[in-house]
Amino acid sequence: MTSGTGREQLLLIDGELVPASDGGVFPNVNPATEEVIGHTADATADDMDRAIAAARRAFDTTSWSTDHAFRVRCLRRLQEALTKNAEELKAAVVAEVGCPVTLTDGAQFATPVEGIGWVADLAENYAWETDLGVASPFGIRSRRIARREPIGVVGAITPWNFPVQIVLAKVVSALAAGCTVVLKPAPDTPWNATLLGRIVAEETDIPAGVFNVVAGSDHRLGQRLSEDPRVDMISFTGSTATGRAVMRSGAENIKKVFLELGGKSALIALDDANMNAVVGNAAFQITTHAGQGCAILTRLILPRSRYEEGVEKLVQTLTGWPCGDPTDPGVLMGPLINARQRDRVLGYIEQGVAEGARIALGGGRPEHLTRGYYVEPTVLADVTPDATVAQEEIFGPVIAVIAHDGDDDAVAIANNSAYGLSGMVCSASQERARAVANRIRTGTISVNGGLFYGADAPFGGYKQSGVGRESGVAGFEEYLEIKTIAEAC
Ligand code: NDP
Repeated sequence: MTSGTGREQLLLIDGELVPASDGGVFPNVNPATEEVIGHTADATADDMDRAIAAARRAFDTTSWSTDHAFRVRCLRRLQEALTKNAEELKAAVVAEVGCPVTLTDGAQFATPVEGIGWVADLAENYAWETDLGVASPFGIRSRRIARREPIGVVGAITPWNFPVQIVLAKVVSALAAGCTVVLKPAPDTPWNATLLGRIVAEETDIPAGVFNVVAGSDHRLGQRLSEDPRVDMISFTGSTATGRAVMRSGAENIKKVFLELGGKSALIALDDANMNAVVGNAAFQITTHAGQGCAILTRLILPRSRYEEGVEKLVQTLTGWPCGDPTDPGVLMGPLINARQRDRVLGYIEQGVAEGARIALGGGRPEHLTRGYYVEPTVLADVTPDATVAQEEIFGPVIAVIAHDGDDDAVAIANNSAYGLSGMVCSASQERARAVANRIRTGTISVNGGLFYGADAPFGGYKQSGVGRESGVAGFEEYLEIKTIAEAC
């Protein structure tokens, strides 16, 4: 990528790839090198206003919301175009996100692009109307029909950690449902969104105004989108604090708000668990994209009788874990997104120690990496269930290891959280693990390493981890209203 504003770094407003209305740009920094890799059009409030107006017009005055077959064709074409441009898109994701290139064959690119096909199939075969049959409430004979209609204009606000996954999960479901969309990506990772905008504009038949991309460095852009009365729904992924602000903004005109927020998920080993499998899962989890994932298992809850065994094995597994240049296919862990995030993670480690935790591994910046926002894989042992590092989302490669005294205690510790996004239970007995899993208050949970991830699997949180579900039929239906029609008969 060269610096300057290329076609891939423009906004998409009302079908046109455009610079910011005042000509402003903002830098895109590679978190592995700390170098500016290019610039992106820096949207103004006026740009956001025009994008919302375009999305409103496209929803209210075109056949997009009612022409189901046309939308399915557009989405299949979009999938083909993304697949054709995969190499350019993957390179941009690695450069701006800092994720290991191997992850672009999975959640950071290939899997969400494949998932577009699943959503297109769903929309193609979806029962938009359900016959509820004839009834005679208060003696009035009526045929009742439940008809699904798109909710309207959707504002999609996305974070920087798994941007392609999160952007496509929102945008594709919303478009498939017949909504129009204004996407506001995170300022740390704008190109995945602006490239998507370019591809939509140049390589698909998606009509002007149906999909808009408003990237910018002004932190008030997201707030403008969530406050605007022309927007019917906000679909947000990010921190719980910001989710709260989005909910407040949406309250003014009773917007529907879908929230996918933070997590502090627990990996529970029961006393008969295979400890090698447990620590393998734990190591993979906290190093995947340097722990910058909402569903990552950041609390390891070990039986007290096998606590030291587990900590020692985890330290052994993580010692020498490949960490560094994300473009190297042998690297499993890259940097954090920016200096602020790195310092925040280091601050949490310090706080953990101040509250009594023992650093069993890591705890600082890797000595061999002098540039880039790296933090070492860090194991914090002797953590108590109420400690700050056991309660707050750190969003870095840091795992808090806590002891439990049996299945009931493990369940109580896992549920002692404001969050409820994910989890894992490991035991030699699948039945016993499943019984514990059923008691954990989370939106997703793994039993002995099973993986829930996929376009057809609903994903989302209990408690302060969110409201609603992304992906699957439930994720598609978030973007629909139900109209009940009663015909006198
Ligand atoms: P935020 O939740 O603040 O940002 C996510 C998105 O929301 C960005 O596009 C951001 O834009 C936008 N935004 C910020 N404020 C508002 C607002 N008032 N109204 C509408 N949109 C808004 O995450 P951060 O980047 O600040 O990261 C901080 C912490 O959040 C991390 O350390 C991590 O713990 C957590 N996080 C969780 C994620 C998850 O998937 N659960 C993803 C990312 C972060 P802008 O940056 O311009 O403000």
